[in-house]
Amino acid sequence: MAQQIAFLLVFVVANVFAIRSAKRIWDDIHLGQPIDRTDQPAERFKRMLLIAFGQKKMFKRPIPALLHLFVYLGFFIVNIELLEIVLDGLFGTHRMFQDSLGGLYPALINFFEFFAVAVLVSCVIFLIRRNVVKVPRFEKPEMTSWPKLDANLILVFEIALMFFLLSMNATDTLLHNSEGFFFSNMLTPLYAGMSPEALHIAERVFWWSHIIGVFFFANYVFYSKHLHIFLAFPNTYFSNLNPMGKMVNMDAVTNEVKLAMGMQGDSNMVPPERFGAKDITDLTRKQLLDAYACTECGRCTDNCPANMTGKKLSPRKIMMDTRDRMEDLGKAKRENGKDHHDGKFLMGDYISEEEINACTTCNACVEACPVNIDPLSIILDLRRYKIMEESKAPAEWNMMFQNIETSFSPWKFPPSDRGKWMNDMNS
Ligand code: SF4
Ligand code: SF4
Repeated sequence: MAQQIAFLLVFVVANVFAIRSAKRIWDDIHLGQPIDRTDQPAERFKRMLLIAFGQKKMFKRPIPALLHLFVYLGFFIVNIELLEIVLDGLFGTHRMFQDSLGGLYPALINFFEFFAVAVLVSCVIFLIRRNVVKVPRFEKPEMTSWPKLDANLILVFEIALMFFLLSMNATDTLLHNSEGFFFSNMLTPLYAGMSPEALHIAERVFWWSHIIGVFFFANYVFYSKHLHIFLAFPNTYFSNLNPMGKMVNMDAVTNEVKLAMGMQGDSNMVPPERFGAKDITDLTRKQLLDAYACTECGRCTDNCPANMTGKKLSPRKIMMDTRDRMEDLGKAKRENGKDHHDGKFLMGDYISEEEINACTTCNACVEACPVNIDPLSIILDLRRYKIMEESKAPAEWNMMFQNIETSFSPWKFPPSDRGKWMNDMNS
């Protein structure tokens, strides 16, 4: 009974904290502007299935993709066993489903154990890649102490969780003299010499370590890049369905141009308070969701031509800075009231002009991202703010803007002159 009460207490506390953290993430994302991405639900659902569930974009690099798939599937599949563990904890039973499922029970546990071993091995390989092989994309300047520690912590954590699960089954097998399960039976020699009392204590220690570890993980994830485990699904569902490279026009500007050219426009349209984005409150909720869904994998930066040529721009850092700013502003508002502003801005205090001006708008980052994040859209909105609100553009860009305005062409020649070179060929 004491164990049941203790378990209920841990269960309730873990869930209360997790719900509070989920609410914090929800509120942070709602600091952004609403955007309607509910059209074409079938296409959106298909994308979500292929990219988030099927991990389609990961398979450009098959070996890390396969290892990641094991960890990802393991997370969901092994946790099915959690249902029995939680019910056992609440009702004080032992392996509640064992009798009712008959022969299916060992088959299921063997299946879960296969994934537990696959997760364990994959996490060890990931740790080696990060810390011994030192894959270059994990060593960029934005991967400072916390992002590195976060990535390592979670891998060590998963290894420990899987070890606790397998050891729990191994000690339970010895304790009840049962046939056991394929993978955990390999661990039984570790505990074979123990007395029944010691085995009982060991089984309980592993059981509690596993379940408390799972509850801790469920709360830690809200402070970690591993939030992508959940957010990859809504993030891919609400992806931009336009062809890559199609830039979003600003309605107010399009309207002004139409009116200026005598075309049909809306003379009553109210221009926005600010063109482009100076802070996260000017970005859309989808852009903020992107920031929380970022896995910090660095594939975007790895493919960014600006970054490759030594420029300061890293699309991964753009996403990390957006998330940091969202967390800072969200915290300031929670502490001082929703109208409070801390006097800082995403543009300038977190992301520099040098970074956004280095972008070639090539979309390579968008193409490379395994969870359909769009760092370019944030860069474009920040640039729009700098240029349209502060008139701060590099001198050569200003010349190009002037040419477009006067000659309808980036060069000083009107489009009608473009084909003139062909005349010389005919003469
Ligand atoms: S769109 Fe910009 S940030 Fe993205 S890969 Fe191209 S240059 Fe880099
Ligand atoms: S934006 Fe995408 S590709 Fe870039 S680090 Fe985040 S998850 Fe990886």
